[in-house]
Order: sequence, then structure tokens, then C-alpha cells
Amino acid sequence: MTDLIKQAAADLVKSKYAIALTGAGISTESGIPDFRGPSGIWTKDPEAEKRAYRVYAQFQKDPKRYWIDRLTMPSLLGNLDRYAPNPGHIALAELEKMGILKWVITQNIDGLHQKAGSSKVLDYHGNAFKLRCLACGSRFESGTFDLKKIMEEDRLPPLCSGCRGVLKSDVVHFHEPIPFDVAEQSLEEASRCDVALICGTSAVVYPFARLPQVAKQRPRGSESVIIEVNAEPTPLTERGISDYLLKGKTGETLPKIVDEVKRLMDTKK
Ligand code: NAD
Repeated sequence: MTDLIKQAAADLVKSKYAIALTGAGISTESGIPDFRGPSGIWTKDPEAEKRAYRVYAQFQKDPKRYWIDRLTMPSLLGNLDRYAPNPGHIALAELEKMGILKWVITQNIDGLHQKAGSSKVLDYHGNAFKLRCLACGSRFESGTFDLKKIMEEDRLPPLCSGCRGVLKSDVVHFHEPIPFDVAEQSLEEASRCDVALICGTSAVVYPFARLPQVAKQRPRGSESVIIEVNAEPTPLTERGISDYLLKGKTGETLPKIVDEVKRLMDTKK
């Protein structure tokens, strides 16, 4: 066991309010590609990134066309239903059950933290299995709408059953503001935490990438510990925002940290 795994476990056991911030890297071992890793979708196809930057403007201009495209064209990440959580997601769910991890704030849209058993998850960039009303902010499970039928009956875009506002996917597209409720609570959790475990994110997408900085600068002047688990160094490593980096796969490293946390807690009994 490396010293840094011991250090991370000790920091988590000592913590009073630990959170995890996760990105696409934690789901690559479930088979979902990330965007900017060596086999990432953008790395392999830079044109796909340019197209993704136009989606929100397309929605604003013509929500019906946006929905037709979503329902008739393959999505970037494929059918997310078929993926299962990996040991990295499960390790974070275990840390929550042990009372150590208070929230997972994820950029991922795949719902795998919830499938792994985490109950306190903030989907910072939305959730692919939900729709969101842009007028009142209500969210709906996408299964409650028969979108294919709505398209066949020429009734797109789907409308909110509460206020009749236009629904879009809950997924936050580039240039789209982060929904206020999630943005506000994420900032609150980041400023409150004393340990932030940052897993599988390149930390270049803003405003999410501000959360580790907020966690670092706690308002009451007390120190927080920022731990990164990532396959490669990131701007957080390079700018000294993280206190240390456990370089490696989240699916291998996080379970080792949990094993050590359990050992430390057993010895404390
Ligand atoms: P990113 O693609 O920019 O970066 C992923 C990082 O994780 C890279 O630094 C990579 O080296 C690292 N990584 C890859 N596999 C790893 C592993 N097994 N263990 C440890 N590290 C690993 O991802 P991002 O920072 O999350 O930003 C991309 C945006 O794309 C996010 O906004 C997210 O919403 C979206 N996205 C989501 C999914 C998903 O829901 N699973 C997948 C792709 C992209």
C-alpha cells in the first residue's frame, strides 16, 4: 500500500465533512468514454466537440428540431442504460454509508453514482434520465413521457405538466447555465467541506472547476485537504490546488482507500 493511500484514508477518517467531486474519468472503467482522456471522444473527434458547443443555441432557436434530433440521431455517449457502476462508484457509495462522505457532486450525466447506492448526489451537469422545465425548473423522469409517440403525433417539444413550460433534457449543454438549485447547493457544500476527494476529472470545465478552489479557500480560515485521484496530473495538481495526487485508476485506487479507512476505523473501536 502506498503512503498516499494511507494518507488519504487518514484524512477521510479525520474529516468532519468530506465531499467527492467526480468527472467522466470515474465512469471510463464502466465502459463510458471520457472527453479529454487519451481515448476520449473529443481527443479522437475534435469536430464532435465543435458540434456539441452549438446544441444549446439550437435548442433556444428551435426546441422542436432539438427534440427531433435527439430522438432520431445516436447520442454521443450511446445508450446509457446498459452501463453498470464500477468499483470506484461503489467505493464512494460505501464511504457515504460509513458516514464519511456527505455529498458526491458529479459532472457525469450517467446516473452511475445513484446506481451504485450513493443517495446524496448533485448532478452538476444534469442527468440523462431526466427532463427539466426551463420555466419552473421542475424535473421529470424521462420514462414518464412517451417521447416517440409525442413526436409521431407532432406534439414536440414536450411540455411541463405543472406550468406548461418547454422541457429539454436535464443534461446541461455547453453555454447553458448550471441550474440554480444545483449550482447554489454545490457551492455551499464545497465551501463547507474539510476534505474534497476529486476523482477522474480534467478540471478544465467551468464553473465546475471552480469548486475545488472554493473548497480550498474555506471562509473561516481553517484548512481543508484536497485529494485528487486521476490517471494524470491536471491543472489542480499543477497549480497546487490539490494537496496531493493519487495517480492511477479510480476503480483501483478508491477501493484501496476504503479498505484502509475500514482498517483505521476498526482499530479506533
Ligand atoms: P474529461 O474527459 O475532461 O477528463 C477526464 C479525466 O479523467 C482525464 O484527466 C483522464 O485522464 C481521467 N481519467 C480517465 N479515466 C480514468 C480512470 N479510470 N481513473 C482515473 N482517471 C481517469 O472529463 P470531465 O472533467 O468530467 O469533463 C467532461 C465533461 O463531459 C463533463 O462535463 C461531463 O458532464 C461530460 N461527460 C460525462 C460522461 C459521463 O456521464 N460518464 C462521459 C463523458 C463526458
